[in-house]
Amino acid sequence: MYQDVLLHIGGAWTGAASGKTLDVINPATEEVIGTLAHAGIADLDAAIAAAETGFATWRATPAHARAALMRKAAGLIRDRAAAIAPIMTMEQGKPLAEAKGETMLAADVIDWFAAEAVRTYGRVIPARADGIYQLVVKEPVGIAACFTPWNFPINQAVRKVSAALAAGCAVILKGPEETPGSCAELVRAFADAGLPAGVLNLVYGIPAEISEYLIPHRAIRKISFTGSTAIGKHLAALAGTHMKRATMELGGHAPAIVFEDADLDAAAKILAANKFRNAGQVCVAPTRFLVQDSVYEGFMERFLGAIAKIKVGDGLAPDTTMGPVANERRIPALEAFIADARNHGAKLATGGERIGNKGYFFQPTVLTDIPTTARVMNEEPFGPLALVNRFATFDDAITEANRLDYGLAAYAYSRSTRTVTALGHRIESGMISINHHGLALPETPFGGMKDSGYGWEGGAEAIDAYLATKFVTQAS
Ligand code: NAD
Repeated sequence: MYQDVLLHIGGAWTGAASGKTLDVINPATEEVIGTLAHAGIADLDAAIAAAETGFATWRATPAHARAALMRKAAGLIRDRAAAIAPIMTMEQGKPLAEAKGETMLAADVIDWFAAEAVRTYGRVIPARADGIYQLVVKEPVGIAACFTPWNFPINQAVRKVSAALAAGCAVILKGPEETPGSCAELVRAFADAGLPAGVLNLVYGIPAEISEYLIPHRAIRKISFTGSTAIGKHLAALAGTHMKRATMELGGHAPAIVFEDADLDAAAKILAANKFRNAGQVCVAPTRFLVQDSVYEGFMERFLGAIAKIKVGDGLAPDTTMGPVANERRIPALEAFIADARNHGAKLATGGERIGNKGYFFQPTVLTDIPTTARVMNEEPFGPLALVNRFATFDDAITEANRLDYGLAAYAYSRSTRTVTALGHRIESGMISINHHGLALPETPFGGMKDSGYGWEGGAEAIDAYLATKFVTQAS
């Protein structure tokens, strides 16, 4: 079922010029399920040459035609979702239902940006003299180099690719090496829909080698990266050195605040589902739970009750609700976070260990009473690990929520309108979801502030990242 993954350059599926491949591993079985082609500099040069040709064609393609082609690709993805989902589950680990949901959402993202493609309006500015026309026009910025990670192999890519294609840009996508097959299916849908050769190119290889080559290259005008804050800072600096526009979607450490007037049943259920979705490997996952003193026991009882129902297993099994973590290195990373927190005095409420020794399965884990000096209270755990502490007052909760340099997502539960309104103003975070979980829709802005990066990947803001503004003043 899992096929070897090739590069896509200039409209053709191809192996690396060097013939080099890497193995793809199923995190549920640790078996090699296929290989992926491993691009070197010769392949990157071919991708750049192809993108230059593709950009010339695509920027001259009317926006309505671009939109129609994108809608066709979205239709192909919907038709193929049942076949794409198991590819994603086998390479990434997530349950089949999550993989199918991610694939179907990708089609919605493409449709949404297709609709935006025909709305990249400029404007006319009234002139100071008769016969002068002052025009502001929007143009595609050029060839975009996009770097996407393994936690959402399709969705991290589709947000960048759809916005870029809608704007009229060509793309070189460096997909996730550990989960390449489903990302390749996204590219295949565009290719099969008739996207002109070279408009969307897909490469895999050594991430640092590819970014160090593409970002400085004069053909590349736009960088978009999703991944850790440390790598994001490095790539943003490189983009800055070479005067390239950049969008940075980086890590998070989302506070989830439960006030004493919250609907505890809803809070526990929704937060547990979103903490352990994708085995916690989500940049907007609720991470630092802050629960007001008087409802702490009531919340914990419900929260642990919801967690006890999670069924960990191979994502291909129909009853699995949480798969393995996506790669082997997450296991020691989680073990080290937990050991360090416990050395700092944290208590283990549930979980804490790897399950078995075949497949990268880890118990849904909850730590409580964690001092802010513990490493996990300051670094993104990126796994099935919830951290629960108490708070006394509104101001205490806000202080803790804003303590870190991360500012991606935040969650809160309260029935008080006054509290809800104050939260929206006071929390330093790119996205705040209150009394429900409502982030990452195609039409809503997705992005962070502070060390979580800059730029937006959803909503009307997202296409702007791929557009250049040009001012033309003309006398008749
Ligand atoms: P990592 O920092 O090595 O890699 C993260 C991502 O960045 C990967 O997709 C990788 O291919 C890419 N990358 C790494 N170095 C790069 C470079 N020099 N140029 C271009 N791309 C590069 O870490 P990891 O072990 O893969 O993941 C661990 C951490 O990464 C997590 O703890 C989490 O903080 C972060 N992460 C965040 C997201 C997100 O959605 N924001 C997704 C995946 C990983």
